[in-house]
Amino acid sequence: MDYDYVVAQTLLLGVVALIGIVFTFALPVPNHKSKATSGRYARLFLASCWLVEVCQTVRFSGYEQAGRMGFYIASMIAAYMLLMTIVKRYGHSLTRQQILLVCAHIVAVALCSVLLEFAWFTQWMANTLILLSVAFPVWLAIRRVKYYLASKSLGDKVLYAVLSAVFYTLLAILPLYLIFFDASIAHHHSLTFAILMVFMLVFMLSFAVSVLHSLVNRLHTQVHTDPLTGAKNRHFFYEIAPKLSAHALRNNDILSVVACDIDHFKAINDKHGHVVGDIALKRFCKIIQDELRAEDTLIRMGGEEFLVLSPHCDRNQATELAERLRTVISETEIEAKGVKLMLTASFGVIEMTHTSEFFSSVKEADQALYDAKASGRNQVITV
Ligand code: GH3
Ligand code: MG
Ligand code: MG
Repeated sequence: MDYDYVVAQTLLLGVVALIGIVFTFALPVPNHKSKATSGRYARLFLASCWLVEVCQTVRFSGYEQAGRMGFYIASMIAAYMLLMTIVKRYGHSLTRQQILLVCAHIVAVALCSVLLEFAWFTQWMANTLILLSVAFPVWLAIRRVKYYLASKSLGDKVLYAVLSAVFYTLLAILPLYLIFFDASIAHHHSLTFAILMVFMLVFMLSFAVSVLHSLVNRLHTQVHTDPLTGAKNRHFFYEIAPKLSAHALRNNDILSVVACDIDHFKAINDKHGHVVGDIALKRFCKIIQDELRAEDTLIRMGGEEFLVLSPHCDRNQATELAERLRTVISETEIEAKGVKLMLTASFGVIEMTHTSEFFSSVKEADQALYDAKASGRNQVITV
């Protein structure tokens, strides 16, 4: 019995458990329900880690066989609990394939432990099987991080490079060790264990990075989206829209701006109430979105005033677009809480040239919109 290797295992497991706990509690949580369920699994994970440590102590005390069996079982339970903590907390951002792969790893460890215990399997075969079962999910996790870090900062790229370097080095160590050194079975075993633990750390780290990136992306989208209609909001208008238009015009592209305002909308609120007004606004946006191309952007400027940014669209095409929107709105019946409504809207259109300034072009489109209102509403005026 090689006690050094048992001590090394115990210490490594302690470190992994500690990092697992910090990782589990430090990351932001999507919602309260997932926090409560994952909290239960996190506590069970902690308890099973202690159980593993107890089993190691039993091995020290001369009950090698019983301690080893207990160690395998408790390690599997700990791995399962950690997996469930992650799945319950961030299940929405894990794919079914990733969950299956991690489960396959746990099953492989369990199978190998049993086969080894009954001497139906050699240590070398068990090591290789366990390593293969863990290598694939970790490789996928790292690829996922690469996807999130694509075209991001230098720091992100360095992080990805370090993760990949650790992963591939570890993958190379075991076969090289087995080929070049005549190590005892105990050494093989402790080496595999160490590699598995470090794999787990790499997996947790890469997973943490991918979760943080997806949360940042979601936050970014929410900040720029109007919650009622799903259109872009004023933040988007001030922060992103000028950059988009400048980029398009710099590349000698064309870009048109269509301003739009619903006619007599106040009367709808006054007659049917704000709830009906809100539903009507939502439906109105849906009708417009269905008519737009993927590259067009609908912005809610406030109230019932909107802006459409339409790249690759000249003066005539933008006027056609506005005319199509005007027609489809005036012909579509909107139903809100049993009330049937017919809406109309007025439009102002301008094509931006490469000398145009974004905000002054929007002002001109707005002026055209007011002219359309003054000329009797439900019409399009192009500058
Ligand atoms: P017109 O544009 O044709 O001149 O008349 P209007 O009645 O549409 O014009 P106005 O801009 O004066 O009124 C806009 C109204 O839109 C005021 C408010 O009652 C309503 N409104 C603005 N934002 C919302 C909203 O988020 N929900 C609801 N239900 N109503 C809103
Ligand atoms: Mg209006
Ligand atoms: Mg208005």
